[in-house]
Amino acid sequence: MRKIVFFNIPAYGHTNPTLGVVKELVSRGHQVWYYSYNIMRKEIESAGATFISCDDYDTEQKLDEKDATRVGKDLAFSAKILVDTTLALDDKVSKEMAELKPDCIVADSMALWGKAVALKLGIPFVSSTTTFAFNKHSARIMKQGIGDLLKMIFTSPKTSKEVKRLKAKGYPVKSILDIIGSDDNTHTIVYTSPEFQPCSETFSEKYAFVGPSIRPANNEIVKTRDKLIYISMGTVNNDMMSFYKNCISALADTDYQVIMSVGNIVSVEKFGKLPENISVFSHVDQIAVLKQADVFLSHCGMNSVSESLYFGVPLVMSPQTSEQKGVAERVFQLGAGIKLDKTLYVLSAINEIFEDNTYKQNASKISEGFKNSSGAKGAADKIIEVCEEAQ
Ligand code: UDP
Repeated sequence: MRKIVFFNIPAYGHTNPTLGVVKELVSRGHQVWYYSYNIMRKEIESAGATFISCDDYDTEQKLDEKDATRVGKDLAFSAKILVDTTLALDDKVSKEMAELKPDCIVADSMALWGKAVALKLGIPFVSSTTTFAFNKHSARIMKQGIGDLLKMIFTSPKTSKEVKRLKAKGYPVKSILDIIGSDDNTHTIVYTSPEFQPCSETFSEKYAFVGPSIRPANNEIVKTRDKLIYISMGTVNNDMMSFYKNCISALADTDYQVIMSVGNIVSVEKFGKLPENISVFSHVDQIAVLKQADVFLSHCGMNSVSESLYFGVPLVMSPQTSEQKGVAERVFQLGAGIKLDKTLYVLSAINEIFEDNTYKQNASKISEGFKNSSGAKGAADKIIEVCEEAQ
């Protein structure tokens, strides 16, 4: 029986893919502790881990709305928040890890405090990456997006100030990249297939591309028209009333059935009376919808894109952050979606997908790769391998 500790940030996109891995480890008889935030408690406990709340030490959740949208867009700002959280958690986590002596720490690439404490105490470590892994090859292929992120990490003087604060607390880091970046010496689980990851052949054998982990649907969606269009801008930066209204006017009274998920910030009542073919919800069972959908108009969060392609659904893409632009670029390169821009409007983009069958074919090819990946079992194998290697 191994003792394994997970660390994560309070985001569903980063937490959901790890839950299948926790279940798999627990079913094999291993013991799992999971440091996260109260909003994730129920899901983490149902997966079989012992939940440990980080809320009292948190700096992330105390952000106001304007700050929250800066995280993910402004790397220097994100680095400061992540380092603040690492330092706030330092006493608790260092003490508890020294006592527990886990066989392995698994931390999301954004949960710096997990990698930092593993480095500080010499505990075997596995990084968990819910976006693409990046190195100089994949960054070049992605053009904008992840490339921009790298540039910011290297050039921002503010991030070097954060490194000094970590060093002062005994963390052996030379640059913020030591903890935020992926590198060839760190065991890393990447929740995508080798085919979807750009330049997967340029990463060392320490990388396991295990494919996305897709939760089961809890509902069944009834299709009322021949073609179903699903629209969502994700669960984080989704305060986009004018975008939603544009979609409604573009798709009103067409032959398409439209399901739109708008999140909790925008009020569903504010849409007033909707056209007969369009339904708006604050949250849907996205997996159930994608099982029936023909096109997904998405912000291109990694999870949404993976879920869409898993079910062979081509995408119309409206990415907002640099990470989402990187994901959209990859879908575009593989011919499984088109990007909206100033000249390509919502309805024309959707029609284009139906007129050219190659979008559907390419989405189905990626789906096949996802379904052939090793999944939660492959991720659990990797973690156990790291525990055994350290003995
Ligand atoms: N999601 C959902 N219902 C919704 C909207 C989103 O279940 O109405 C889920 C979706 O299936 C995905 C996650 O929330 O697993 C969104 O993650 P993603 O990485 O796509 O975007 P983020 O919300 O992190 O921007």
